[in-house]
Amino acid sequence: EEIHYYRPTKAFIHLQAIRENITQLKKHLQSDVQIMAVVKANGYGHGDVQVALAAIQAGATLLAVATPEEAIHLRAQITSTDILVLGASPASFAPYAAKHNITLTVFSMEWVEQAALLNLMNKLKLHIKIDTGMGRLGVTSKEELQSLYEAINATELMEVDGVFTHFATADEEDALYFETQAQLFRNMLQVMPVKPRLVHVANTATAMVKDEELQFDAIRFGISMYGMAPSPYVAENLPFPLQPAMSLETELVHVKRLTAGQSVGYGATYTANKDVFIGTLPIGYADGLLRNLTGQTVLIDGQRAPIVGRICMDQCMILLPKAYTVGEKVTLIGTQQNVTISLDEWAAKLNTINYEIPCIITNRVPRIYI
Ligand code: PLP
Repeated sequence: EEIHYYRPTKAFIHLQAIRENITQLKKHLQSDVQIMAVVKANGYGHGDVQVALAAIQAGATLLAVATPEEAIHLRAQITSTDILVLGASPASFAPYAAKHNITLTVFSMEWVEQAALLNLMNKLKLHIKIDTGMGRLGVTSKEELQSLYEAINATELMEVDGVFTHFATADEEDALYFETQAQLFRNMLQVMPVKPRLVHVANTATAMVKDEELQFDAIRFGISMYGMAPSPYVAENLPFPLQPAMSLETELVHVKRLTAGQSVGYGATYTANKDVFIGTLPIGYADGLLRNLTGQTVLIDGQRAPIVGRICMDQCMILLPKAYTVGEKVTLIGTQQNVTISLDEWAAKLNTINYEIPCIITNRVPRIYI
């Protein structure tokens, strides 16, 4: 049933953009390479289930999340597609994972020993993580890999379904560190006499700008599924154009005239130097419009208008180019006429990366799927 939202602040998720990004990637990949849609962190803030379903429609055949909780949430809605938990899961999650066809990442003997003592009703699929230079999770030596591989194979109810690694510098122009990681991975793979079903190393950057040999059996498609480039370097070398999936809109809820000398907001930090029109927007830092975004522009009537004064928890004020009426549409992220404000623009303003921006748009902002 349709939920009615009274506040006009909404994030629109363009599922067609997600499908388009997958379709384009599929054309770019070698045939037979599977696409694992990375929908961790609630689909990078876009909505895990909705993004996963759109990705599957467009040809993704595997899903990845970061945590057991995310896998449980996704599995409740999507019953058949494989879901891999990329992060560390406690061994105590193994029975649930086995029962619900959730694939776990494994990188330690103690984990396998603990899980083997538990009552697994179905075969548990495991992907062994190799740390080739990210320094985060994974086995780091051939000996460790071999004993882990053998220990899993010696159990009745666990199997090595996959093996993978993660690159630290795939999105950078300098390929030296990247190549070292790739070579180490290939070398480590030789330990396994039988290749597991799914060998995967590529994140978005690797899949889009690196050697096609590194596509192996599957690629893990995250950031560019949502229409963002992993880095400026990849942005300049994209094999196909990306369609941004998220836009953020609201409406003017109040418009007032300020005379020269009057101020706006906490601390009265903005003072009009002439008569101006100020509009109030029902969005603030509790929605993810962080206080450091003061000065960032928004779009109204196809024109840029700056946020003035301090951003409040639930509201902020903008300097209007002229008097507009309450209800006028305001775009914080997205396009009006020919002008676009991207997530990258916010990232630059906040001195961070685009990945972080959709993640900081909080739950109070409803995601509307169009
Ligand atoms: N694989 C792993 C192990 C990850 O942690 C991530 C996300 O950071 C991804 C793949 C997806 O990366 P990207 O969004 O750059 O495609």
